Amino acid sequence: ECKERVDTLKEKTGVTPGLAVILVGEDPASAVYVRNKIRACDAVGIKSYTHRLDTDIKTEDLVVLIHQLNADAGVHGILVQLPLPKHIDMERVLETISPEKDVDGFHLYNVGGLILGKGDSFPPCTPYGVVKMLESENIDVEGQNVVVVGASNIVGKPMALMLMAKDATVAICHAKTRDLAQFTILADILVVAAGVPNLIVSPMVKTGAVVIDVGINRLPDGRLVGDVDFEGVSKKASYITPVPGGVGPMTVTMLLENTVASAERAAAKGQA
Ligand code: NAP
Repeated sequence: ECKERVDTLKEKTGVTPGLAVILVGEDPASAVYVRNKIRACDAVGIKSYTHRLDTDIKTEDLVVLIHQLNADAGVHGILVQLPLPKHIDMERVLETISPEKDVDGFHLYNVGGLILGKGDSFPPCTPYGVVKMLESENIDVEGQNVVVVGASNIVGKPMALMLMAKDATVAICHAKTRDLAQFTILADILVVAAGVPNLIVSPMVKTGAVVIDVGINRLPDGRLVGDVDFEGVSKKASYITPVPGGVGPMTVTMLLENTVASAERAAAKGQA
């Protein structure tokens, strides 16, 4: 779908969507994520611009680069791969990105837009991908009991808001939740984003529940697993997402979707 939209945009307006990706430092996991995002851009015809920066770059220099990218008409999306090294003021960096190019959806404007349901805001990619998965499987959210395990700013909280906006009844659990199972067992739709392998096991899940595993954990033996015991829970769930291969690729896909949407808006405004 993204590729079709990119082709149409190019054909009708001559605009090629562009995504600038900023990677600071040498974190191997971040390098893999960035590589996957660039490959995905290539696959659909989005032009990507990668900026690999030294770990010891100053916040100020990063801010200068982002201002340049904000002003660059060929760039419709700007992504700063997180986490950033500790000495960098992450909030300042994220707030410097123009909300109109904030395709990761982390700028205050876009976070606020999520709460107010503003149509022009960019939803953060991971929870947006979960919503798209539910939509594509025709899983009705309205009136359903949804439990989100994890309350981070990038996954749990926006996930809860997005499903609330679709009229689900949402509970959010976190590390200080007492008796997690008492909540999860009620879930018609269970979204787990805690970063704890095997946090959710079969007795904690209602028969027929839809289980979305956002977690990505590297085990000491090198295996990549989610937060849900897939083997056990898949016998009880009506739907379950695998790790790897479930939410992860959707996150990348929604980044493409936001970038294409940004380019379409820019083209419509005649700014591109
Ligand atoms: P995070 O910032 O560390 O937040 C984890 C959340 O889980 C926190 O709210 C924490 O509670 C809660 N939590 C931790 N242990 C818990 C427990 N035992 N019971 C209940 N809640 C618990 O992590 P994140 O960035 O949201 O990421 C979560 C997981 O998703 C990670 O495995 C990450 O790698 C993965 N992830 C995947 C994708 C993807 O594309 N698939 C994208 C982003 C993240 P407190 O708030 O009380 O500390």
